[in-house]
Amino acid sequence: MRKITIAIDGHSSTGKSTVAKQLADYLGYIYVDSGAMYRAVTLFALRKGFISENHFETHKLIQSLSEIQLEFKKNKEGKAEIYLNGENVEKQIRTLEVSEFVSPIATVSEVRKKLVEQQQQMGKEGGVVMDGRDITTVVFPNAELKVFMTASAEVRANRRFHELKERGDVITLEKVLENVTERDTIDANRKDSPLTIANDAIVIDNSETNQEDQFHILLQLAKDRIAGRV
Ligand code: C5P
Repeated sequence: MRKITIAIDGHSSTGKSTVAKQLADYLGYIYVDSGAMYRAVTLFALRKGFISENHFETHKLIQSLSEIQLEFKKNKEGKAEIYLNGENVEKQIRTLEVSEFVSPIATVSEVRKKLVEQQQQMGKEGGVVMDGRDITTVVFPNAELKVFMTASAEVRANRRFHELKERGDVITLEKVLENVTERDTIDANRKDSPLTIANDAIVIDNSETNQEDQFHILLQLAKDRIAGRV
């Protein structure tokens, strides 16, 4: 059976990763969470002190890019986790602190260039599901299936808030909503590879759709393309 490329973009906290993972597992494809890569670079910049409230030494980050090595490795349950220079940072990259600085980091063209190259390399054989903000437009503009996911800001903030609380983070819903909307604004307005809906992307608003139904909608879209019906 032919292996296609599935590219999923969309707003923050729309459940892109969850459905992308489900699709990849079902189809036996590779799943790549491109946001995790931007988050790992952000963690690196925070640890080096290149970025903090009101200060961002872009040139220092650019100079240090060659010191950053990112890899995905599967854990015992078969879930891909990200490694920054050999260290598993899957948990550390999901904090609100990293979320607060990741969008400014993702505006830097040199960072994007490095990560896009690695993403294209990971998906070059097809049989990949990748989610992010520029996958349908920049990383895989020729993907057979392109999806843009969105939902109301309130619904998205609520989902993220519960996820963070479950992990034991001390945060407020207000703060999460602020982060989600601020990231969307920066992502959609940056000069390099802004978040936008590709002409041929299928838009899915999942404000009122449960995960199961959404998975089946996407799976059908993928099956139609694999079979060459579309
Ligand atoms: O997907 P996630 O919410 O983890 O992404 C974190 C941030 O990384 C986004 O808000 C965006 O700034 C950046 N990003 C990006 N391009 C991608 C994936 C993520 O700019 N392909």
